[in-house]
Amino acid sequence: MIEQARSLDSPVNLYDFDRAGLEALFTAWGEKPYRARQVMKWLYHHQCEAFEGMTDLSRALRARLAAEARLTLPEVAAEQRSADGTRKWLFRLADGNAIETVFIPEEDRGTLCVSSQVGCALNCSFCSTARQGYNRNLSTAEIVGQLVMANRLLGGQVQTRRIITNVVMMGMGEPLLNFENVVAAMRVMMDDLGFGISKRRVTLSTSGVVPAIDRLRRECDVSLAVSLHAARDDLRDLLVPINRKYPIDVLLEACRRYVANEPRRRVTFEYVMIDGVNDRDEDARLLLRRLARVPAKVNLIPFNPFPGSPYRTSPRERIDAFRDRLHRGGIVTITRRTRGDDIDAACGQLAGRVHDRTRRAQRFRGRAAAETRA
Ligand code: SAH
Repeated sequence: MIEQARSLDSPVNLYDFDRAGLEALFTAWGEKPYRARQVMKWLYHHQCEAFEGMTDLSRALRARLAAEARLTLPEVAAEQRSADGTRKWLFRLADGNAIETVFIPEEDRGTLCVSSQVGCALNCSFCSTARQGYNRNLSTAEIVGQLVMANRLLGGQVQTRRIITNVVMMGMGEPLLNFENVVAAMRVMMDDLGFGISKRRVTLSTSGVVPAIDRLRRECDVSLAVSLHAARDDLRDLLVPINRKYPIDVLLEACRRYVANEPRRRVTFEYVMIDGVNDRDEDARLLLRRLARVPAKVNLIPFNPFPGSPYRTSPRERIDAFRDRLHRGGIVTITRRTRGDDIDAACGQLAGRVHDRTRRAQRFRGRAAAETRA
């Protein structure tokens, strides 16, 4: 009874399911599982917005879907375009929170940077999302919905006009702290009946939630990026506080397991270059030593400032010297080009509109005000 009442109150959102989930739903309704596959094609290949348009379903099923299911997507609250072609959307969610999603066009690919949570609970000291505080996990529909909406707004078509070729789970939030919903969403991204993006072109970036890294390998083997940012525990404790729970050794061991037995696979390590904090020659040498046992690539990210941020970007020469040192040590290293910084769309600048449940934003405002008075 309770279940029934709930389903009448709030019809299921079909964007909340991966293929297996949709098949289970249809089976529970007494329908054949292939109905789920037909519906997926309508949603993701044909961008169908209403059940009446799903013409290969029976009339009865269409009527039932209209009564008991919905197709709810995030709404565009604002859009900004950077001089370099990067586009950023602020998507409004049903509860009034808002998240940001960024599209980064390059010559040979188009990458969508997708958010996984409203705000972030992790409090990394160099990241503006942390300042917003944390509210909640995104649903699968809200994660997949960012891709559906961006693709629509860009005029993309999964089968005939592919504009988004890569997805990075590198927007707001820590994806591995929203495991089930993120995995279901990535399955839709990779499914041939969904967006059909290959698993090498879907990258999940984590600050290092070690148990979830092993689980990811078992359940949804996408490309892994890890926000390392320091080669010493005392420094990483300050920059990425989850390090106190899962220190560098333990993290790197999990990374090694993630790509074990697959000779060509590598973990990407992100390393934000902060002036005078983690960018000296000694840091590079220690990093090389640490990465010796892990098949690794390194992405250096020049620190992107945001209002009130405590750090400065490393000078260009120091970033180049750091890169050269890693190269000489045998590690493929690229410096990530800053994209979209004129619209605050660069790494670490995504803010959204978070109804903070941690009061962290207030604390930061209080501290900034106190500093101004001092
Ligand atoms: N929580 C996940 C996903 C965020 S990905 C993670 O930590 O990996 C966003 C990437 O941008 C991370 O590597 C993050 O460390 C980096 N980043 C955060 N703030 C930044 C800033 N101000 N400048 C440059 N990179 C930043």
